[in-house]
Amino acid sequence: MSAPSMEDSSRMQGVSPVKGDLAAHAPVQPGIAVTDGSVELSEPESGIWRPVPLVWISVAWHLACLLALVWRPGDWPYWLGLLALNHLLLTVLVFLPRNRWLGRTLTRLPPDARGRRQVALTFDDGPDPVVTPQVLDLLDRHGARASFFCIGSRVRQHPELVREIVARGHTVENHGDAHSPIFALWGMARMRRDIAAMQQSLRDAGVPPARFFRPTAGFRNPLLDPVLARMGLQLAMWERRSFDTRDGNPARVLARLVRGLAAGDILLLHDGNSAVTTDGRPVVLEVLPQLLRRLQQAGLQPVHLREALAPQTSVHPDPDAQTLLARLAHQDP
Ligand SMILES: [Zn+2]
Repeated sequence: MSAPSMEDSSRMQGVSPVKGDLAAHAPVQPGIAVTDGSVELSEPESGIWRPVPLVWISVAWHLACLLALVWRPGDWPYWLGLLALNHLLLTVLVFLPRNRWLGRTLTRLPPDARGRRQVALTFDDGPDPVVTPQVLDLLDRHGARASFFCIGSRVRQHPELVREIVARGHTVENHGDAHSPIFALWGMARMRRDIAAMQQSLRDAGVPPARFFRPTAGFRNPLLDPVLARMGLQLAMWERRSFDTRDGNPARVLARLVRGLAAGDILLLHDGNSAVTTDGRPVVLEVLPQLLRRLQQAGLQPVHLREALAPQTSVHPDPDAQTLLARLAHQDP
């Protein structure tokens, strides 16, 4: 007996496979914040920023150091040291992409999507004129959908490729305009300009603007959270990272993605800047067919982020999600 196809697998879970544009334009559930230790998902309304606790802690820390300086100016080296400690903590967090201390961070899908046995495929650094079309063919062959975190400058070079991504049922998200390695050193105005330039490139290419943002290498500073809130974008990181820009060994890259793989995982691969195998082939093209087969065998449905976060009806509703939806309905005026 042959293994069930992705669509069969979807039906077994009671989920209608969502096709193309329908899925791409399905609304993300607004105003939902779920925290169960592994998921933190929030879609703040555009323009409203709710500071995470670390912001208040840092403000209080600075004020306390200032008051201490006024109280005992002679001990200024101690107060300066305490201030430096706060900045050291913030600096360490810059290099931990999946941490939630610097702002709302999506690393796993919400319970509803887990109940539908979905995983989110995400590809960074494209579009690439050689690799991206082959990635699209592989995804088509397996009925899989993905989010492409594209770079603005590459969108302007290959707008037809971006339109092709969307036309084939995937979504394009924001990976910055310049893909600067020093993105995390920028202030708010520079970050906003860079992200907005990428959004404009998408509009110019004739595709819908992004709903999710992912900074270069996942590094970001505490100022990104208010910038994204203001622009109505949501930070999307990952649960499993392939390191396929540095490692050309397909077996190792695949192992990083499938070890402990579970429903709700967000997977990070690259269709741009891919490392190459010993015979010169982009490693992502070797890994992706095997990954898609493994997902199929595990009964997991690869989708893009918008589909995973859109409200859908499930035959086997997740009790946590139902409780949450009931609570939201009750709160609605
Ligand atoms: Zn990147």
